[in-house]
Amino acid sequence: MNSVDSILAIDQGTTSTRSLVLDGEGRLLACSQKEFPQYYPQAGWVEHDLEDIWRDTVTTMREAVEKSGRRVAAIGIANQRETVALWNRDTGEPVHPAIVWQDRRTAPLCERLRADGLEDLVRARTGLLLDPYFSATKLAWLLDTIPDARRNAERGALAFGTIDSFLVWRLTGGRVHATDATNASRTLLFDITRQAWAPELLEIFKIPECILPEVHDSAFPYGTATPDLLGTAVPITGLAGDQQAALVGQACLAPGMAKATYGTGCFILVNTGAECVPPRAGTLSTVAYRLDGTPTYATEGAIFVAGAAVKWLRDGLKVIARASEAEALAAGLDDNCGVYMVPAFVGLGAPYWDPHARGLICGLTSDTSVAHLARAALESVAYQTLDLLAALAAGSGRAPATTLRIDGGMAGNDWFCQFLADILELPVERPSLLEATARGAAFLAGLGAGLYPGLSAVMATWTKGAGFAPRMELSRRARAVEGWRDAIARTLAHRA
Ligand code: ADP
Repeated sequence: MNSVDSILAIDQGTTSTRSLVLDGEGRLLACSQKEFPQYYPQAGWVEHDLEDIWRDTVTTMREAVEKSGRRVAAIGIANQRETVALWNRDTGEPVHPAIVWQDRRTAPLCERLRADGLEDLVRARTGLLLDPYFSATKLAWLLDTIPDARRNAERGALAFGTIDSFLVWRLTGGRVHATDATNASRTLLFDITRQAWAPELLEIFKIPECILPEVHDSAFPYGTATPDLLGTAVPITGLAGDQQAALVGQACLAPGMAKATYGTGCFILVNTGAECVPPRAGTLSTVAYRLDGTPTYATEGAIFVAGAAVKWLRDGLKVIARASEAEALAAGLDDNCGVYMVPAFVGLGAPYWDPHARGLICGLTSDTSVAHLARAALESVAYQTLDLLAALAAGSGRAPATTLRIDGGMAGNDWFCQFLADILELPVERPSLLEATARGAAFLAGLGAGLYPGLSAVMATWTKGAGFAPRMELSRRARAVEGWRDAIARTLAHRA
């Protein structure tokens, strides 16, 4: 790769839009970020103004490129997944605000389809669940609710897309209507085995095919951004949903490699290679990335409350001033003294899958202090990871993962990283650059632009910032995990 070349990564997230300029080794040269408003028109509804997203994309990309002082050879996009945009093909104007992945307005429709016995089919084709989280029912809601939308859709006047598609459309001046296989795999309309829109799902959700984007590889010459944006026409050559981009950014490009992003919640993806493992209770199968027409798959699972448990100590209980204080508090104790926290604030995910469960703290004595609570919060995230990795491996007949690469806010906490390695009995690695999502978008764009010869070149640029090897005595580990299982049993019993 030419040393003057750099890559622009657009990371369009749920609460902010960021543009980052990286060099060929994936090093960060410049960054610009803007937060944008969330709209909550009714309880359970969440919307974004697509013009906010577009304006911030343009502003941050210009700022980042200017700050870097570099020529940008390619653009890659990583985006919040599943969020639905619907716009007019002639004017480019959205016909409605974007309906965000968190939005629950289509829960009744999902219930109805489940009652009709359609979940197994949906799961078999898409690897997902019949849940409002994914795009299809949101798109159906728009077509059924906006006056004339269905008629206009059927005569080809409207275009649907996830945020990547919307940005590609706008960046190319309305010339390209496309998405990549990772984003398509989150719509509930895409057959992840056949790698094509699934006709029977389009029928179930009543979606006219003409509004769908073309699906391409994650590294692909999508089109060029119009010259008014960055002064020259820059090719857009990489697209991926944000979690998949992070998997690529962490160079988890071989089967058995896994990444976990520890923010508010935690998303884990395990690379399963060419094999699309059938999804188990509460976990998903998804496209990790697609290159040269060949999909690589991943299993995916989420922990609802990760960093949010620490945030609760800070903002809810107000017993710590900063999330980072949890580290010294936990490290100051020899062990957890039998104090466990199950942060089931919004139910329990895989493998327990109980949306009605609520959290608990157990093992309290008069000696219990804030340090025990901080430690219990951090420990709970490690135990939840252990449970989730087991759920992700269930049925595959393999160990869950060979290595776990982590990023996100909590990955900066060394005590947590070591405890995680101990509980998982797996090496835990943290990259030198924690911006895994942006790196993934940049790598894909670099591949798509021919700046890298192949995946091995991408893997070679990943550099470890810190590594944590399991070192806890096994009997001690077993006792710790046993305490967690007991706390989970109490959580489940309490609900009953
Ligand atoms: P998000 O993108 O979901 O906002 P971030 O990746 O910025 O999340 O991480 C922030 C979360 O991580 C917060 O919930 C915070 O409580 C937690 N966090 C940040 N730093 C630490 C730390 N040093 N130790 C433990 N938790 C932390």
